[in-house]
Amino acid sequence: MTIAKRLGLASVALISLGASAAYYATIMAMRGYQTQARRLDYLVLALVAALASLLLVLFWRSVHQTVKSISQQLDRMVKEHQYGLVMIEEGHELAQITGPLNRFLTLVRGDINHLQEESRELQIQSRIADAEKKNAEAIIISITDAVVVTNRFDELILANQGAEDLLGFKLEHSLRKNIDHIMQDGTLVRLIRETRSGGRSFTRKVVEHTIDQKAQPKIFNVTLSCVMTAQGEVAGVVAVLHDVTREKEIAQMKTDFVSNVSHELRTPLSSIKAYVEMLVDGEAQDEKTRREFYDTIASEAERLSRLIDNILNISRIESGVVRVVREPVNLTEVVKHVLDVLAPQAKAKNIRLADRLVPVTHQVEADKDMIYQAVLNLASNALKYTPDGGTVSVSTDIDERRGLAVFEVTDTGVGISPADLPHIFDKFYRVQSHTKMAKGTGLGLTLVKHIIETVHGGKLAVTSEAGRGSTFSFELPVL
Ligand code: ADP
Repeated sequence: MTIAKRLGLASVALISLGASAAYYATIMAMRGYQTQARRLDYLVLALVAALASLLLVLFWRSVHQTVKSISQQLDRMVKEHQYGLVMIEEGHELAQITGPLNRFLTLVRGDINHLQEESRELQIQSRIADAEKKNAEAIIISITDAVVVTNRFDELILANQGAEDLLGFKLEHSLRKNIDHIMQDGTLVRLIRETRSGGRSFTRKVVEHTIDQKAQPKIFNVTLSCVMTAQGEVAGVVAVLHDVTREKEIAQMKTDFVSNVSHELRTPLSSIKAYVEMLVDGEAQDEKTRREFYDTIASEAERLSRLIDNILNISRIESGVVRVVREPVNLTEVVKHVLDVLAPQAKAKNIRLADRLVPVTHQVEADKDMIYQAVLNLASNALKYTPDGGTVSVSTDIDERRGLAVFEVTDTGVGISPADLPHIFDKFYRVQSHTKMAKGTGLGLTLVKHIIETVHGGKLAVTSEAGRGSTFSFELPVL
């Protein structure tokens, strides 16, 4: 029941009481047995009671209307969420209530304004944080290294495509799941967990770790960082996996290269040194022996110089500092020149040097000296690795349809086994069983490959069968 209703009921009760009193007083005043004076008393009493009832009615009306107005104003404030002041007639008795009520409402309004401001501020901050989070996520996602972010419960909260591919999970199915259940790589799981439990003492470390990717072992530098909150608590771990396989290979190749070069240089140098010492000690007593010693020294010096030339040429091409002089070159002419140079060698080994060369009509745009070097290396290898009495056939051809000039050299030599074939273009690679057959550096074919493919954009190919012979060929675009 509302206050207004209660007040109404109370007033009706009082008015009824006043009216009854007035009625009783009037009756009493009218009774005939009363004295004059008594009758007057009752009349006054009836008048007073009636007046009191009237005043009460007026008072009740005023209170009722004011309470109703207060109630309506409060209802409106609640409905519209607008907390103002309760307004009533000035000097009204209920002002004793509305005064404190308004003070209370003013306080509430102040608090609400304050809270609204704070809420607006929080909304702005939350939007900024959201945008920053999205930025950070975009950065992580665009990194090519694999990135994994976990929280303090070792649950996955972010990962990029690199991590998905490498570690074999899908972020959308793995969010908020423990890394134990997502990652098969136990070592990585252990590293992340150790970093998290190490907390402050373990803020960042780099560990080398091998992971199989598409059945190939890949070496990664795993950088593990512990993410700390402003209060110094562990919030999670960020693991970045950087593939260093190629860098490691290059470092290993450099080391191998240096050790191979030193080894290869030492062999002819030791030989030269030994023969010179023998000459100095007078060990070559007759002219014939001395001549033999001189010849050996000359051929070893020649080998040394060839070796150094090859190394320099290869490293110049590899580092891109080689000077290439391009001019129209006739392949047949170059091959003829090489055959002239090699003819004595073929004769010495009783090898038939057959040629089938196209007429001098087509030209290729190339560095003449380099092409000469490539043809010489391939043809002299054919002679070197063909036993006495064999045949080496050399040809040039034009593939009109594809616009290519083709050089080919086929021998009836020792051939190359399928196991060795993929490696013969590697630096310093020599087929073990061939080393007694001919001297070499293992650099000739590397240089040919670089000259034909790296410098001239052509194609070098080989087919071979152990014990039966080999065919090396290359093609270059004609002008
Ligand atoms: P090398 O100085 O040893 O000849 P190359 O780089 O020219 O170095 O050749 C690498 C290896 O490939 C050689 O050691 C040899 O074992 C093999 N090889 C090259 N050409 C032939 C060929 N025509 N027949 C058989 N083996 C060959």
